[in-house]
Amino acid sequence: MSADHTTDVVVIGGGPAGSTMASFLAMKGHAVTVFERDAFPREHVGESMLPFCYFVFKGLGLLDDMKERWVRKPGVRFIDVDGITNTAWCFHHHIKGENSLSFQVIRSEFDDVLLKHSASLGATVRYQTKVTNVDLDDDGATVYASGPDGDQIETRARFVVDASGRETFMSNRLGTKVAHKELERTALSCSYWKGAKFIDTLEEGLIQIVYLGGEKQGWIWCIPLGTDRVSVGVVVNSSYYRSQRKELLAQGHEDWKMALYLKEIEAAPYTKEILDGATMERDLMVNGDYSYLCKEKWGDRFALVGDASAFIDPIFSSGVFMAMRSAQILSDVIDQRLNDGVEASEPAFVEAYDRVVSAYDVIDRLIRLFYTPEAINFAQLGSASDAFTDFDHYQNAMAVYHFLIGGDFFEVANKYRGFIETLRDPKMFAGFKNLVIDRPTLSATSCDLGHDTAFHEGLRAHEVRREIERV
Ligand SMILES: Cc1cc2nc3c(=O)[nH]c(=O)nc-3n(C[C@H](O)[C@H](O)[C@H](O)COP(=O)(O)OP(=O)(O)OC[C@H]3O[C@@H](n4cnc5c(N)ncnc54)[C@H](O)[C@@H]3O)c2cc1C
Repeated sequence: MSADHTTDVVVIGGGPAGSTMASFLAMKGHAVTVFERDAFPREHVGESMLPFCYFVFKGLGLLDDMKERWVRKPGVRFIDVDGITNTAWCFHHHIKGENSLSFQVIRSEFDDVLLKHSASLGATVRYQTKVTNVDLDDDGATVYASGPDGDQIETRARFVVDASGRETFMSNRLGTKVAHKELERTALSCSYWKGAKFIDTLEEGLIQIVYLGGEKQGWIWCIPLGTDRVSVGVVVNSSYYRSQRKELLAQGHEDWKMALYLKEIEAAPYTKEILDGATMERDLMVNGDYSYLCKEKWGDRFALVGDASAFIDPIFSSGVFMAMRSAQILSDVIDQRLNDGVEASEPAFVEAYDRVVSAYDVIDRLIRLFYTPEAINFAQLGSASDAFTDFDHYQNAMAVYHFLIGGDFFEVANKYRGFIETLRDPKMFAGFKNLVIDRPTLSATSCDLGHDTAFHEGLRAHEVRREIERV
């Protein structure tokens, strides 16, 4: 056992939630130690960011770096099963600030930059160090970890933040994790397709979401990550995934996951077209069983944040924003707890988690709406032929939706919750007039920002630097 360490806060995990928490706490003057299980950089899913992330990057002092390094994201395009019916949701049509242009990132590099930033702000970061146990007591916690050489590290902390992602370190031990069986999905993805055709709004930097119909209950994402790099992920219902396993193995496919991934890409007209002749430059990643929530989110001496607290479905690209914004909000109340004690800071904890839980609830409702076949189909919603154009307050609904899918979950969660429910009842639209921001044309098939806004000079220069470093 190595010598004892003491710190104010131990953060378990150095993904976006952990690094954001560590950075904000370090900025407030606390001693923070981050234990990260893996060596960085490491691959991770979750590349498309929401516009409201912008303010968190600003708070971290990373906005200029983000603008210099990454593809800008002006919006989202939903494409129906037929490959023809589609809608392009351009954030700047309704969100009038600079944040209407979001980012799409290579996660290995993005997470690495964020965690190095925490270290530059004073946090101690220990890579390849896995937390194995946490003993909570009245004054704090003793955290046990195993280092790169198998060395055992014992650390005394006044507070522990679990940011271990889908490992859900604390909830597994507390027995408080609840799976959403009905939203069970499996994602097969590759973060680097080279030689894809950048057609339509992909050329403008929009993420493309392709509906998969019937029993698949899924979708495909195409995220532009560079001038010649697209991430493509296939998400399907886990029961369809299991039935395909049987079928493809029976057909003699040894690598049945790859066979399924390529089969779905080939079956969807849009991906078939853009990936014709393109090559996979990274391994296939498989992510399954990712819909759950953890009931006990904080105690006197611990708090859960990011995927360690809840995760539902990545359809609206909300995960990284939720992880980072929650960490920012919770860093304030942890600061208060460290300064003023448990009793004095408890009301602030209740309020902060109420905001976070309400925001997750908004997304949960939005996701369930997406998977309800008789409700809204985002690919059809904005097309002129659709029945929704008859709604009196159709334009209002569109404005609200832009804010919703832009990530405005935290400030007026109750209104959004009500709004989502009323989409099942058109007559109720009138109650939401006050959320209207603007009413520009609704039938855009382009965001009219051109290629160079997304694939700007800074990005191109950075791609050259990255290639030189790689060689
Ligand atoms: C298929 C799929 C697609 C997605 N697409 C998007 C998207 O387009 N946009 C988006 O915003 N989000 C997306 N997400 C969600 C996004 O990936 C997550 O919400 C985000 O990474 C959460 O960040 P986090 O810091 O909470 O967890 P993570 O990023 O998972 O970080 C957790 C860290 O904890 C470390 N760790 C775990 N256990 C221990 C331990 N015992 N000791 C020490 N360290 C430990 C891990 O090594 C890891 O580095 C997607 C998710 C999935 C599954």
